[in-house]
Amino acid sequence: MEGFDVIIIGAGPSGCFSGIFTSERCKKVVIIEKNNQICKKLLLTGKGKCNLTNMNEINNDYLSKYRNGKFLINVFHQFSNRDLFEFFENNGLKLKIDTGKRVYPESENGEDVVKTVKKILDRNKVKVFLKERVIDIEKLKNGFKVITDKRIFKCAKVIIATGGKSFPETGSQGDGFVWAKKFGHKIINPVPALCGIEIKENFIKKWQGINLKNVKVISYLNDKKIGEEFGEVLFTHYGVSGPAILNLSGNISENYGKGEIKIIINFKPALNEEILDNRLQREINQNPNKILKNLFKNLIPSGLIDEFLEISGVDSEKKANQITKKERKILAESLLNFSLIVKKPRPFYESMVTRGGVCVDEISPKTMESKILKNLYFAGEVIDIDGKTGGYNLQAYFSTGYVSGINI
Ligand SMILES: Cc1cc2nc3c(=O)[nH]c(=O)nc-3n(C[C@H](O)[C@H](O)[C@H](O)COP(=O)(O)OP(=O)(O)OC[C@H]3O[C@@H](n4cnc5c(N)ncnc54)[C@H](O)[C@@H]3O)c2cc1C
Repeated sequence: MEGFDVIIIGAGPSGCFSGIFTSERCKKVVIIEKNNQICKKLLLTGKGKCNLTNMNEINNDYLSKYRNGKFLINVFHQFSNRDLFEFFENNGLKLKIDTGKRVYPESENGEDVVKTVKKILDRNKVKVFLKERVIDIEKLKNGFKVITDKRIFKCAKVIIATGGKSFPETGSQGDGFVWAKKFGHKIINPVPALCGIEIKENFIKKWQGINLKNVKVISYLNDKKIGEEFGEVLFTHYGVSGPAILNLSGNISENYGKGEIKIIINFKPALNEEILDNRLQREINQNPNKILKNLFKNLIPSGLIDEFLEISGVDSEKKANQITKKERKILAESLLNFSLIVKKPRPFYESMVTRGGVCVDEISPKTMESKILKNLYFAGEVIDIDGKTGGYNLQAYFSTGYVSGINI
């Protein structure tokens, strides 16, 4: 039985960083990866461009973009977005900072990120066994037995970096959760996050392809607010997507099945009811003979108007100067609080990240070592940490990889 100091399971961004930094402390390090390449999922990120971090200052607002952001305080203290940026640039990968402080390789090609990671793994003499699937891990008196579909290894320490359950065709199928549970860890129920949301109302199909900018969306579970976002919403054949919805989706998935979930769209978040009413009055006074559905062209995208007015219950053919004060109030209310009922979140195979996983309470944020079983470590999406769009996820997973490696 071949032996290693450290075996890392999974060659995604987190496992590769675990490998790079473990190799600075231990001699015999191997990463075992079931795919025939490293970082398969990373190649899909940022629509192929790979949004690898976000350069906003790491403060409370930055941490609030994450589930379990507090756990990351120590992690980012050891390896921040600036450290990641410098690390790649020092290793020859030119980066650029785009809108919203999103960071991409200058080439806008995720393959260059993977090539750089591979170059450093090779330089640090980290072995990577590809096309080999870990089937089980067993605890020995001293260390672990790692059983793959090809052979059995012994090692002193194990880092589980198997990712979550999202985009399972890239290799992440939740194996790490099974082993963590076996070793006594609590697993927070994994659910899809950064995904679209299916909507019950049938008319939504007619809105397919329409994109709203600068709207506010609020999600409620049985009238209790569970999330709020500002930004873009895209209507799809099944319901809603777009950045604001993706960022709402984790909370929706987490609460799915607990009661009725609604998404409220505020089309005019910069206006309160009174100012919006004044705006409606102005529109009416300036266009007294226009019918309501034409008047609304100044207020929402034209593709939405028919259904919007039907649901509001105000006659769309009515002339502006015939609209009553009560109807104006109804229209303002609908513009500020347009309600959609959630059918369900889209499945794992469409979700960019997994909410849930190994409970952070049982992992040391200083080292990533299990608080339950010595010499067992975790890195990346397998941990119950996920972030909003904008490069936050990869940053957290690279950083946890670093922390596990440097402290092992
Ligand atoms: C379409 C898409 C776009 C995204 N865009 C962005 C973005 O722009 N910015 C961002 O920050 N995040 C983005 N993400 C999220 C990000 O890609 C992931 O969160 C990240 O890849 C997770 O890293 P990881 O190393 O923890 O896990 P993974 O990348 O999932 O890697 C885990 C690895 O473990 C291997 N593995 C699992 N089980 C076994 C086993 N039993 N034996 C051997 N190997 C195993 C898998 O094959 C896999 O290679 C995106 C995700 C998707 C799907």
